[in-house]
Amino acid sequence: CGIVGYIGKRDAAPLLLEGLQRLEYRGYDSAGVAVAGKSGALRTVKAKGRVRELDDRLPKRFTGTTGIAHTRWATHGAPSDENAHPHLDAEGQVALVHNGIIDNAADLRAKLVADGVEFASETDSEVVAHLIGRSSADTLEAKVREALAVVEGTYGIAVLHAAFPDRIVVARNGSPVVLGIGENEMFVASDVAALVRHTNQVVTLDDGEMATLKAGEYRTYTTEGSRTSAAPTTIEWAA
Ligand code: GLU
Repeated sequence: CGIVGYIGKRDAAPLLLEGLQRLEYRGYDSAGVAVAGKSGALRTVKAKGRVRELDDRLPKRFTGTTGIAHTRWATHGAPSDENAHPHLDAEGQVALVHNGIIDNAADLRAKLVADGVEFASETDSEVVAHLIGRSSADTLEAKVREALAVVEGTYGIAVLHAAFPDRIVVARNGSPVVLGIGENEMFVASDVAALVRHTNQVVTLDDGEMATLKAGEYRTYTTEGSRTSAAPTTIEWAA
């Protein structure tokens, strides 16, 4: 339902939760957040219910300057703590938030289970986290690309990886992803409502497009890997 991501110099969690609150009007049944600490290690907190309840559940020190967050509107699996996003791969290296529906999730899940993968949720989204985690490609971008090559359906995704803590990789196919360009910080969201407080410089991804966000730069490219032009547009916002 709603995606928010941040990479920069500030503590990510408060910014992410505030962003989620701006997406609450869209409706949701659960919420969650993942941050990458200094070493890259990922920490995740999820809660069925309101963003308030997620906030109550955050440990005092939930620090990290890179993070992703989600409000879920369940399509596959009941509303629950476990089914809330972000979803992790088996090693806890990958954290993923997903909007949309993976049509061939049952099929992909059966193959992963046959390979010994244990699932932590009933969602269609979790298969994508495992596919990324199991890719042997060298870069996070290539891992995500490889995973998406076997996925059918709609998605807006944002991905963190403990081994690549300097970036967030996002992709869009049928579910909106908007980059918010700041100064030495970058935002991403499924809806500009979560960005406008921080920047009026935005880049709206097209279907079949991906992006890499780092604190000081971003680039956009197709799922096949060729660069796309990504000049930001200035949005006017009447609050
Ligand atoms: N299909 C996913 C799920 O059920 C994502 C739903 C959403 O867009 O919030 O968890």
